[in-house]
Amino acid sequence: MTKSRSRKPPRKRAAKRTVGKTRRPARVRAAKPAARGKPLFERVAIIGVGLIGSSLARVIARQHLARHVAGCARRPDTLKKIADLKLAQTVTWDPAVAVKGADLVMICVPIGAYKDIAKAIGPHLKAGAIVSDVGSVKQTAISDIAPFLPKGVHFVPGHPVAGTEHSGPEAGFAELFQGRFCILTPPKGTDPKAVARVAELWRRAGMTVEIMDAKHHDVVLAITSHLPHLIAYTIVGTATDLEGHTKSEVIKFAAGGFRDFTRIAASDPVMWRDIFLANREAVLEMLGRLSEDLAGLQKAIRWGEGEKLLDLFTRTRAIRRSIIEAGQAEPVSSRKPAPPAPKRPARRKSSRSARSKAR
Ligand code: NAP
Repeated sequence: MTKSRSRKPPRKRAAKRTVGKTRRPARVRAAKPAARGKPLFERVAIIGVGLIGSSLARVIARQHLARHVAGCARRPDTLKKIADLKLAQTVTWDPAVAVKGADLVMICVPIGAYKDIAKAIGPHLKAGAIVSDVGSVKQTAISDIAPFLPKGVHFVPGHPVAGTEHSGPEAGFAELFQGRFCILTPPKGTDPKAVARVAELWRRAGMTVEIMDAKHHDVVLAITSHLPHLIAYTIVGTATDLEGHTKSEVIKFAAGGFRDFTRIAASDPVMWRDIFLANREAVLEMLGRLSEDLAGLQKAIRWGEGEKLLDLFTRTRAIRRSIIEAGQAEPVSSRKPAPPAPKRPARRKSSRSARSKAR
């Protein structure tokens, strides 16, 4: 039997695979450190005190980066947790109240809620205040927030590239940001002093800060974060649809790679729905490329082209090595401090051990 292969025009190589303008990210020099004992900000409002917002609140408290933190969430249950965990000095469901007198407002809610939050806080912002955010997509962060900010308020969009699959105020921890990157995407004309103050906050949280164009950020994150989540959701979804017996075997033998996908696929559904809808263009572009590559792999497996497989797997192994060398391989969740071990009652020395010591 002869193998019939349709001849297709050669695929364009990676060099031509750029979406939007690619610009070399600039590292931000640390702002002059604040005088010892003087906090970076007088009053910080954290709108959305979940995994990211509460981790930042913990950093601010631990390092005395603000005199007052106002925490804001929607549900009474979340408000109670914020108060019980002492993550803020004042707690409110009303964003307009939270931002009163704040010199930094950090928006840490899912991206789909940005417009409503911006509308609610706009008229209540102090002149000279800085508004920033932590959202995973930057172009929509700018288009949803900027129009509602009054003149004299500085907007410094940001994205601390650190997280876990857990949510809520109890999921946060101060070490979350340590050793990771924070990308700031200030629109043209943003006051450099405001950028430097936000950069300094993240630097104090242990992050390396880079400045990037918002469009470029969205393309880079589409491949490094959004697509892997989409793949995880798909694989776990496919397994969920298997018939009963096979499904239970999948769960039983989950160790073989599948387990890692289930961890990613356990990420917050609302947050990820918002990310895919907000970064639609870049995600669809990357998904198209992935589909092409998958089709190529499918063909290589079908035709027994071991060399092609070997070549790809060798290249991907090298990528992993470079991530390890860059110090970005350790999963962030492994840094969460373990809860203190329960105190054991002091053991009474047995007469035998007392005797052996006496010898
Ligand atoms: P989270 O743990 O689910 O916390 C979200 C917080 O926002 C909660 O306090 C929630 O309050 C509040 N909130 C939700 N919807 C709201 C609405 N419509 N109006 C007002 N408040 C609302 O989420 P997260 O993981 O911290 O993510 C927050 C942001 O960080 C997202 O924009 C995400 O893109 C970005 N981010 C996440 C990660 C990550 O790995 N998780 C990493 C980097 C950046 P209630 O509990 O009262 O609803």
